[in-house]
Amino acid sequence: PAAADGGAAAEIAAVEALLDGWPLGKPRACIVILARNSDLDGVLSSVLQLERRFNSHTDTKYPYLYLNDRPFSPEFKRAVAAATAAPSFFGLVPREHWSYPPHINQTRAAQLRSEARRHMPYGGSESYRFMCRYFSGFFFDHPLLAGFDFYWRVEPDVHFTCNLERDPFRVMQRRNASLAWTIVMSEVPSTIPSLWPTTQQWLAANPQHLAPRSLLPAFLEGQDDAAAGWGPFSLVHRWRTEQQPGVSSGGGGGGDAAGGQPWRQRQYTGCHFWSNFEIGRLSFFRSAAYRSFFAHLDAAGGFFYERWGDAPVHTLAAAALLDRSRVLWASDIGYKHGSWAHCPLDPASRPRCDCSPFYDAQPGRQPSCQLDFLDRLAALEAAEAATSQ
Ligand code: GDP
Ligand code: MN
Repeated sequence: PAAADGGAAAEIAAVEALLDGWPLGKPRACIVILARNSDLDGVLSSVLQLERRFNSHTDTKYPYLYLNDRPFSPEFKRAVAAATAAPSFFGLVPREHWSYPPHINQTRAAQLRSEARRHMPYGGSESYRFMCRYFSGFFFDHPLLAGFDFYWRVEPDVHFTCNLERDPFRVMQRRNASLAWTIVMSEVPSTIPSLWPTTQQWLAANPQHLAPRSLLPAFLEGQDDAAAGWGPFSLVHRWRTEQQPGVSSGGGGGGDAAGGQPWRQRQYTGCHFWSNFEIGRLSFFRSAAYRSFFAHLDAAGGFFYERWGDAPVHTLAAAALLDRSRVLWASDIGYKHGSWAHCPLDPASRPRCDCSPFYDAQPGRQPSCQLDFLDRLAALEAAEAATSQ
């Protein structure tokens, strides 16, 4: 017999009871899976792998939180709950987190979608845009997540290819980290033409939020790259300024490079942590700074008029707001999504992994930007070391 609220209050109470008995010192962490009922087989596949590689090998198993914009079917709930010894909880995404905010012109959004349909992945999809906006601005406020400090985002049909020897949540806790990633990818430029200019506006208005030792420069084209017009984002920038003279989509004008704001004159590379794998600290997303950043992006409309992904949004936020030490590369976790993978390189990992660094991971091949990102990061750290001497 379903309760009037679809069982939401009972589900929240069950999570609270679980956390009341949570072992002291163990990270308050959950595994979050947004899925449709039709994703059942893919969800089971992902969950069984995560259990086998990690979660089943501990006394208190991390719970699974399944979220959906529509009610989960009894079949879905029964099947995923039976797949693990870990507890499973089911939540509905609130309607206001999966719909248009009032300032969006839905006619214009539909028009732009139909133009984008054949020009970018998910260009014509409305639901994909709701999904990206949800992960950008709302998932961390879902009532089921309220008592948790950390989450691991998991998707249907992904692969975990290594036995984990460390609990990634404990690593996050010990190292005071806010975000962990495995794969970095180049964004399709046409999905985010105005994301970086909008981010620059927010940074200009909120300079106090830029972390002194941020990762941001590692996501920006070098002065030389930009001057030469290399890279997809220089091309987009040039296209925009030619199409709409007077609308500066980039820079912010001359003379701004000084004063610790080098981002003003540089273009975003489009490189981003792939968010289909994401381990995060919820307090980062719940912070006033992150909320202000998201509100600014949401007001600009790019989740609907363009097709901003939550991955570049999370990446730019983490890059700008966090000290570099709080962003971790979870390089010991073997992971595969679609045809892209990360496989731990070190010889000591071979016995615990069923993946091949040579065949499965191609960090130098587009659209992976791993080598580019790590190069820029190394250059940033070298430059900093040089100036601090
Ligand atoms: P891709 O990885 O960017 O190709 O996108 P996916 O199709 O894998 O979607 C990303 C995540 O959002 C997955 O966990 C999907 O199950 C979920 N998802 C995408 N669209 C919807 C939707 O309309 N409803 C629900 N409930 N989940 C969705
Ligand atoms: Mn996916």
